[in-house]
Amino acid sequence: MKSTTTVNQTKLTKAPEIPTQMKAWEVVQPGPIDATPSPLKFTTKPVPKPKRGEVLVHVIACGVCHTDLHVTEGDLPVHHEHVTPGHEIVGRVVKNGPDTSRFQLGDRIGIPWLRWTCGVCEYCRAGKENLCPNSLYTGWDHDGGYAEYVTVPEGFAYRIPERFDSLTAAPLLCAGIIGYRAFERANVPAGGRLGLYGFGGSAHLTAQIAMAQGIEVHVLTRGKDARRFALSLGAASANGAYDLPPVKLDSAIIYAPVGDIVPKALEALKPGGTLAMAGIHSTDIPQLSYSDHIFHEKNLTSVESNTRRDGEEFLTLADRLDIHPEIHEYPLEKADEALKYVAAGDIQGACVLRISEG
Ligand SMILES: [Zn+2]
Ligand SMILES: [Zn+2]
Repeated sequence: MKSTTTVNQTKLTKAPEIPTQMKAWEVVQPGPIDATPSPLKFTTKPVPKPKRGEVLVHVIACGVCHTDLHVTEGDLPVHHEHVTPGHEIVGRVVKNGPDTSRFQLGDRIGIPWLRWTCGVCEYCRAGKENLCPNSLYTGWDHDGGYAEYVTVPEGFAYRIPERFDSLTAAPLLCAGIIGYRAFERANVPAGGRLGLYGFGGSAHLTAQIAMAQGIEVHVLTRGKDARRFALSLGAASANGAYDLPPVKLDSAIIYAPVGDIVPKALEALKPGGTLAMAGIHSTDIPQLSYSDHIFHEKNLTSVESNTRRDGEEFLTLADRLDIHPEIHEYPLEKADEALKYVAAGDIQGACVLRISEG
């Protein structure tokens, strides 16, 4: 009989040996990423033990998301002392905790930002688990993937489409999924025009999803390299973050955590247009003018996390539409350098830490 081993399943004849200690980053004291001493420390931590309903994963790759920077710099309040950041994790299941049945040892899975929701509150029951007030997040409430091992409740992990290698798949798990939810929230009409403010890991995936559906994409971002990159992917125009696009937009998404962009982006919308703010954090929005920014039935909304259904839909689309994440590889011990690159805001694609060969 033919072997069934694939990228997503390595047949293990016996349970792998799991060390007791692992290498991991932790946020010692939140502060500017360039500060001395650094807010981050590369250290040794105990390998976590999977609790009821959880699996232990040997990390192959972990993407570096702007939210990791917010956790590191203290834009988000501390939820877990000395937390290990990272929530775009691809790895293999090496141990099943009690009462687990979904995955086999050796399965390749993805671990996203949304770690757990309560399942019983009004939002969870209404299919809006992204708004669950009891939700927990990977790399904020619980240790994440800037480490060799991590645990995840099995119901919140994803299977990764077979054709993505593990490094390429990592940014799909937050940049991709949240970008997809932002795209849905932005209500772009068929064949419409979409503005993207900021062009990092998330926006470059959203742009591909949009263009594959015949939507015209206009990019507005401060980074010259990022603008060039946007045009190379097929964007119709690329201008500075505070410029007006060459045409009025049906919809826009702000990825940059900068509230000052909001009035400009609302000005760029057609009557009835929608602006979605995709970030978990933003600086304050300046005073708006009713006539210039809001009248003509313009809509301003935000994006909070994602549901598991968003994740499943996005991963299916990413597979079918042949989405290509552009990645910059860093070794685990250089996670701080990757975060500095993200902070500089002129990235072409997404940074990913290579952690094991998997
Ligand atoms: Zn809930
Ligand atoms: Zn993220």
